Order: sequence, then C-alpha cells, then structure tokens
Amino acid sequence: MNQYLRNLGRIEFVVTLACTGRCKHCSEGDHRSGGAHIDGGAAAEAVRKICGEYQIKSLMTFGGEPLLYPEDVFKIHRAASEAGIPKRQIITNGFFSSDQKRIAEVAEKLAESGANAVLLSVDAFHQETIPIGPVKAFAEEVLSRGVNIRTQPAWLVSKEDGNAYNLKTREILANFSEIGIFPASGNVIFPEGNALKYLGEYFEKGEYVNPYREDPTDVRTVSIAPDGGLFGENIYTGDILATLREYSPEKFTE
Ligand code: SF4
Repeated sequence: MNQYLRNLGRIEFVVTLACTGRCKHCSEGDHRSGGAHIDGGAAAEAVRKICGEYQIKSLMTFGGEPLLYPEDVFKIHRAASEAGIPKRQIITNGFFSSDQKRIAEVAEKLAESGANAVLLSVDAFHQETIPIGPVKAFAEEVLSRGVNIRTQPAWLVSKEDGNAYNLKTREILANFSEIGIFPASGNVIFPEGNALKYLGEYFEKGEYVNPYREDPTDVRTVSIAPDGGLFGENIYTGDILATLREYSPEKFTE
C-alpha cells in the first residue's frame, strides 16, 4: 500500500461547480453555469475499485449544486451503498427545481440510492439568492422518506458572534427546526474566494491556515473534480488504483 494513503478513509466527489446560488461567502468564487460535471457511471466504477483496496468509511457528493445532475449523484450513492461504505453524505443547497412533482421525485430517488445523510446548506448567505420555499419543500420530502437530514449553516466569525448575518441565520434555522430538521455543527467561513472579496471587513489581517486542508503526506480523503481529475491524473482515462498507487506529495492538489 502507498504509505501516503495509509489512512485513506473517505471519497469526495465535486459533482459540478455550477450552482443555483450566488453566495457572497462562497469559497469557490463565482459559479457560472455549464462547465464539467462528474460522469456518474465512471465515478461509480471508481468507488467500487477504491473500496476493493481501501477501508472507506465515508463518501460525500457536493458542488456547486450536485442535484443539478441528480442521476450522476444517484449512481455514486448506489455504488457506495453496494460497496458497504457506512456514511453516504450529500451537501446540497436544496434548490434545483421549483416544481413540486420534480422535487418529490428527486427526493424519492435520492432515498432509494442509499444516501443516508443530507446536509442542507441554509443560512443568511444562501437565502440572499436562493428562495426558501422550494428548499423547504425538498427538505420535507427527504424527511418524509426517513433519510437523516440536517441544516448545515455557515457562520461568520464564529457560531457565537452576534453579527447581523448570524442573527438572520438563526432565524432561518429556527424555521427548519419547526418542521423537525435540526442544525448540524455547520462551518465557520474561511477567508478565500468570494468570502474575502465581499466579507473582508470581518476577517483580521494576516495569514489564515485553512483548517480543512489535507496533509499531503497522510491523505485521508481523495477529492475527485468535476472533470474527473485527481492528483494530476483522470478517472475517465486512467486507472484510479494506479493513480493512488503512484501518488506522492508533490502531486497533491486541493
Ligand atoms: S450554494 Fe454553495 S456552492 Fe453554491 S454559491 Fe452558495 S456556497 Fe457556493
């Protein structure tokens, strides 16, 4: 086994960078529609192969907005479920359609695919550009199918800070708690991308160390890009197991 991947236990898929939101705190900067999105069939195959060699404990799909490409998301979660990965998460802003029938259909198929933890990105920032009605409708459809769903807010400065954004976020979370969907711990906004551009005044000057950064010499998570890219190789054109076998820290990319 590659010593740098000795503790590999998690697979992530950035399904797409396209998004229905335009959040001012987004670490990815501007999201334009179009661009690459993950191929669910190839991604599912990669999941099966990785699980044949590594003890994978969790898998996540996210974006951008992953449910812009629901069929690909379902294929990935189905493969994860069949491969015995215990924790199968999706992070979504919950807004991919305003049509109630379509919302119910996607919730149904998501539940069937085996995704067992839905983290719903709702807060003051998301709801500046994302209407809460369809998000709540989706959340209720997911909940009614017995899938674990929690709100996943982004906090500004800290969870405890009393700035106007956090106050608004608490109001939004209360709205979901009323229907039985309670908050997960969420995350504190890190100063990069749009966050730095639009919310710079809330961050102190100086160096920030990204708390979510991997140690390139002890990689615990592989994160596959919308175009299939991983460590300078590609899951569509190469053998993922060879990519993992030949990984070395200088190939590490965020
Ligand atoms: S919903 Fe998420 S990915 Fe989309 S713009 Fe907002 S923070 Fe970025």
